[in-house]
Amino acid sequence: MAYCFRHTDTVAVSRCHNCLKPLCSDCIVNIKDHKFCSADCGKKYFQFKEKKEKHLASSRFYRVRNLVFRSIYKIATLVIIAILIYIIYTRGWIGTIREIITGWMGAIYETITNLL
Ligand SMILES: [Zn+2]
Ligand SMILES: [Zn+2]
Repeated sequence: MAYCFRHTDTVAVSRCHNCLKPLCSDCIVNIKDHKFCSADCGKKYFQFKEKKEKHLASSRFYRVRNLVFRSIYKIATLVIIAILIYIIYTRGWIGTIREIITGWMGAIYETITNLL
């Protein structure tokens, strides 16, 4: 049987919700439906809890954000693949490759002439 951390000859009836020290009925400090060894200990508990909840909320936000970004990347990749398949299907491999090369060459040529 546990004895109160402050009154060592009194049987403890509860424990501090934060530090788990055994408490007798005289030492229990009730804060928001929880029992604590002191108001300070209770304050620490709620501060820690608040921090943890804030952290949880922000990590949940990042998880949702990452999920959204990943879906966007997936959709973009699918769209690019679909466009490539469409071009290859309508113009054939050689036509597609020629188009890409001439497109690139044209872009590079244009950039160079713009610079000069
Ligand atoms: Zn405590
Ligand atoms: Zn006590």
